[in-house]
Amino acid sequence: MASIAICPGSFDPITYGHLDIISRASRVFDVVYVSILNNKNKQPLFSVDERVELIEEVTKHIPNVKVDSFDGLLIHYAKSIGANSIIRGLRAVSDFEYEMQLTSMNKFLNEDIETFYIMTNNQYSFLSSSIVKEVAQYHGKIAELVPPQVEKALRLKFPIE
Ligand code: ADP
Repeated sequence: MASIAICPGSFDPITYGHLDIISRASRVFDVVYVSILNNKNKQPLFSVDERVELIEEVTKHIPNVKVDSFDGLLIHYAKSIGANSIIRGLRAVSDFEYEMQLTSMNKFLNEDIETFYIMTNNQYSFLSSSIVKEVAQYHGKIAELVPPQVEKALRLKFPIE
């Protein structure tokens, strides 16, 4: 049976930190779904379609990665695509409490689905989509933080007048 894992998240937009987790997961699992949660409570900068397109472009060199989006509960979505593993990245202690809550709830909802954590590469431990958007908004340098396609998309969202 093929091992299918999901890397769920907002990916608004995808950064080198995400990409590091995705590529490391792709070496362990047969298929890795990068799945965008279409969260109705958040106001994203990039639409789901824009995020799918960016993730597809920056992961096209990894053959066992698929890009998708979903609404509702992650465990229902996991079941619908036949995935039994969830992958999340851990950056710092500050991520831990929220992640523990999330994992415990998912375990309570479906105990057959395991969550695995991949520790961030030290180089990216300060990196988040929110901080990248904040820097991009004020035209700071982001080239080392996101792939070139994402940098271009951010520059288009925040043009220099
Ligand atoms: P969410 O809103 O679900 O946290 P994100 O897009 O912010 O969505 O993150 C998706 C996943 O990627 C999470 O598991 C998060 O911990 C992980 N992640 C985000 N940034 C990094 C990073 N710099 N290094 C490692 N993992 C990261």
